[in-house]
Amino acid sequence: MECNGKKASGFNTQIIHDEYQAPAGFAAFTVPIHHASTVLFDNVAAMRARTWLEKSSYTYGLHGTPTSFTLEARLAQIEGGNHCLLAPSGLAAITLIDLTFLQSGDDVLIPDNAYGPNRELANWLSGSFGVSARFYDPLIGAGITDLIQSNTKLIWTEAPGSVSMEVPDIPAICAAAREKGVLVALDNTWAAGVAFSAFDHGVDIVMQALTKYQSGGSDVLMGAVITRSKELNARLLTAHMRLGLGVGMDDAYLVLRNLPTLKLRFDAHDSSARKVARWLSQRPEITKVLHPALPDCPGHDVWKRDFTGAGGLFSVLFDARYSEQQTDRFVDHLKLFKIGFSWGGAHSLCVPYRIEKMRGNWTDKGVLVRFNIGLEDADDLIADIEQALMQL
Ligand SMILES: *Cc1c(COP(=O)(O)O)cnc(C)c1O
Repeated sequence: MECNGKKASGFNTQIIHDEYQAPAGFAAFTVPIHHASTVLFDNVAAMRARTWLEKSSYTYGLHGTPTSFTLEARLAQIEGGNHCLLAPSGLAAITLIDLTFLQSGDDVLIPDNAYGPNRELANWLSGSFGVSARFYDPLIGAGITDLIQSNTKLIWTEAPGSVSMEVPDIPAICAAAREKGVLVALDNTWAAGVAFSAFDHGVDIVMQALTKYQSGGSDVLMGAVITRSKELNARLLTAHMRLGLGVGMDDAYLVLRNLPTLKLRFDAHDSSARKVARWLSQRPEITKVLHPALPDCPGHDVWKRDFTGAGGLFSVLFDARYSEQQTDRFVDHLKLFKIGFSWGGAHSLCVPYRIEKMRGNWTDKGVLVRFNIGLEDADDLIADIEQALMQL
């Protein structure tokens, strides 16, 4: 490295206007982390010529740097879409979709088994912002057509529902929606863009919580909204700007770093989870294993028809003879499985839910416990569950 030693200006000016330029020609696999609030223009004409509505140039850090643009492009490609916008969490991506496509007077349909905060947001929009939000049976399929009103603008889907795991018939819902000109958004987090080809099944807008498999490290919060349609993306982009949604470039880098192993990790979670789920289905303490790849799970046939994999997340129902106190003791006695929300990382997790309080019409008896199968050896996870079941 050579430095120009001349001292024509004061110390502060010099250390601020540092003129060193690293040599060109550096090549590596890593995507550079470009931090910026201020983005520079060569001259006023260049500044005036640029617009944040086109991702062919840069205007302001909030609207992206090469790091976030690269992540968006890779996520769009994985999902089979054309456009992607990043949000600071999966929930912020859900919010972006609702605030883009719903106005006062509009109606939104949400599956009764939706990710809890999606439901919370819908209730807030309906309580304070003049939107009507209605909840539907996730297994409704083509029957959704009877629920669509003239003011229905958006139908949310989630495949499968994050806690109770019913797999909806996405093609049937999308066909009914298209007939009536209603948009369908899918929370595709469970399948990670790996095991379900959303756009090919008719979905208009895909939401991903990158917090899960894409990050893979239990250390990043981020979301994405992906579309094929330029027009839908333009509407999302306008709302994205108005809401001031942006992500940190270090976080974007962490996701980029883990994307090349996305499918390998997903498949490893999948094969261990099926092994653990099958073992659990033989246990007398468990009445149902709610894993889309197993026949107990509502919507299993739809999963077989439409999905190519299953990942690491599933739930079980304990026999109704066990009290919540007993199943809590089971969870507390797990050693490898830790107690905590989220999933998609290397560590196995376990969370009990009060499912009957989350759902409109839950009839099954028995405590629901959700497992996230991490990347540990499946036999060790089974042994851990077995010793904890002794505590019931
Ligand atoms: C985690 C999750 C979200 C929200 O993601 P955050 O980044 O935690 O806000 C949304 N939907 C599903 C299905 C999730 O699992």
